[in-house]
Amino acid sequence: MLRHKSFKQVNELKRFLQNCVPSDAYCSCAYYEEPEAEMDEKDWLGADLIFDIDADHIPTPCNKIHDSWVCSSCSFSGKGVVPERCPACGNEKLKVKVWHCEVCLSSAKTESIKLLDMLISDFGFSEKDIHIFFSGNRGYHIYVENKAIRALDAISRKEIVDYVSGLGLDVSFHGLRKKSLREVHSSQGSPLDEFGWRKRLASGMHNFILEAKEENLRQIGLTKKIAETILQNKNVILKNWLDRGMWSAVRGIGLETRKKLAEYSAKLQSANIDTVVTTDIHRLIRLDGTLHGKTGFRKVEFPVSAIDDFDPFRSAVAFKTGAATVFVSDAPEFRIGDEMFGPYRKQSVELPTAAAMLLVCKGRAEVIE
Ligand SMILES: [Zn+2]
Ligand SMILES: [Zn+2]
Repeated sequence: MLRHKSFKQVNELKRFLQNCVPSDAYCSCAYYEEPEAEMDEKDWLGADLIFDIDADHIPTPCNKIHDSWVCSSCSFSGKGVVPERCPACGNEKLKVKVWHCEVCLSSAKTESIKLLDMLISDFGFSEKDIHIFFSGNRGYHIYVENKAIRALDAISRKEIVDYVSGLGLDVSFHGLRKKSLREVHSSQGSPLDEFGWRKRLASGMHNFILEAKEENLRQIGLTKKIAETILQNKNVILKNWLDRGMWSAVRGIGLETRKKLAEYSAKLQSANIDTVVTTDIHRLIRLDGTLHGKTGFRKVEFPVSAIDDFDPFRSAVAFKTGAATVFVSDAPEFRIGDEMFGPYRKQSVELPTAAAMLLVCKGRAEVIE
């Protein structure tokens, strides 16, 4: 690792990268008086607020299929979300084999959209302050560059993390308190016109009840009888809820039920971020425009307003010409641009450079001379 570098000109940086050809390049999210000095002598001036949303941290239905890990010390293995350490022996060195499929990246995008909405609607940042990037592999990076947050310490950043991930959110403060059975919103109009988490809880509960089937309601711990009551009175509940934020029209739906609904909706509304990244005020993060060593895709920025239509498997492709013949050990089906590839198993195949590069970077193929 070559660290503590600084460059005054973009061309200087480019020349440096061309000369040492690293597999991955990172830059600091912090501002320093002396960027080339040792860590304790750099003189920290501030840092951008950054968020990392990675499919590694989001339990998706597909990670049980395409992600696996093996402990390098005791060989214990598992499928799905990779644990911090081996559950059998505690070793932190796990050999990980993950894939980045369309489902994973679309769940990371959903989380990013929730986060962007909070940053803009709740925190009041403007789109100009916010930069969003596809990381080149399994997720998205979001930077907030604004003087107002630059000097925040780790504890303040943790508060922001808690807010966006709904940590420590107590639904009793949102009209669900035992002592005041009177609905908090009853005189205030629709909770959907409210602000911040109160609005998020309200719209989350509304959307959940609107779509829920009996099994969904049972899954959050409601009894069969209560689930049936909710479904039978769905229209009345939603109407009262939308107009005045009231539940009281329906008998049999008590405080505990409402709390369960609110707590579940908090989970749905929160943004699933990698919390340690945001609280680290010295964080290194992949350099914009560089290739990801595990995919050969580029980290690319795109406009916040374009997130719905952003296609990482098209926009991040760096190698657009040429082909290579590779021997593939195994690879699931995947897409680059409009073309589908695979699945492959123990076979030689000629692929466009981007596809061949992806499999080689993932450790699933070797180039045949
Ligand atoms: Zn182990
Ligand atoms: Zn997936």
